[in-house]
Amino acid sequence: MSNLFQAEVLSVHHWTDRLFSFTTTRDPGFRYQSGQFAMIGLEVDGRPLLRAYSMVSPHYEDTLEFLSIKVPDGPLTSRLQHIQVGEQILVGRKASGTLLTQNLTPARHLYLLSTGTGLAPFMSVARDPDVYEQFEKIVLVHGCRQVQELAYERRISHEMPQNEWFGEQVRTKLLYYPTVTREAFRHQGRIPTLLETGRIAHELGLPPINATDDRFMLCGSPEMLRDTRAWLDKLGQHEGNMSQPGQYVIERAFVDK
Ligand code: FAD
Repeated sequence: MSNLFQAEVLSVHHWTDRLFSFTTTRDPGFRYQSGQFAMIGLEVDGRPLLRAYSMVSPHYEDTLEFLSIKVPDGPLTSRLQHIQVGEQILVGRKASGTLLTQNLTPARHLYLLSTGTGLAPFMSVARDPDVYEQFEKIVLVHGCRQVQELAYERRISHEMPQNEWFGEQVRTKLLYYPTVTREAFRHQGRIPTLLETGRIAHELGLPPINATDDRFMLCGSPEMLRDTRAWLDKLGQHEGNMSQPGQYVIERAFVDK
């Protein structure tokens, strides 16, 4: 069996001139856990051109969804951004990644901290009923430059709470905190600053962040990851991984070359 399968594009949505998302069919043999990523791409000059992408879709859904940047000269996304319904993409069968609750020690609150397309893995984590069983509150933070880059805001605020299966867990446990840095909005500022000043916890009515109650998953820009990690380390938190669970886990939203 090939390590790649073909998936047919079912829908495409352009959020901005830098951001789009699309859904595809799913090979029934393709398995993953909420928060993981896989290699996806296109055949270019007879060869697969692949990049890492987090699954937006929860692990139990029949279709796959991805949220993508459009890099003007990017080898993959300069092409992928023109994808149309009915066309095929390639998906690698092996899913991986560290953004798994098994890599965290038990606690009361799970903070999902993302910037830009770093929201993608948390869209699957925040729709996983098993995750809600493990925490009293899930705090979904999404930082962007502009309001229109807050992808999935409507789905998170209006559709997920009405979901037949996990809507009640969302209504009672999910706290959504979108924040922008370059426009007026109800929440403003960079994630590391909002954490350091205690604003996120305070505005959401949660106790100040502490090592006993709070766990973190981070996925975003190199700057957000660097500064947030430094703050967590200062608090005495330790990074978890597959062999040793900790208080936080990190995945890069992209690699800066
Ligand atoms: P590349 O040559 O891969 O990238 C060119 C440059 O564009 C990079 O050096 C960087 O500066 C910038 N860039 C790349 N990706 C992003 C991004 N997402 N946001 C902001 N700037 C970026 N990308 C997604 O769009 N969605 C995802 O869900 C996603 N998940 C990823 C998961 C992992 C673990 C990693 C390592 C990367 C992920 N990426 C994701 C990035 C993705 O793999 C590609 O880099 C991206 O699709 C651009 O591909 P490219 O060939 O067009 O350009």
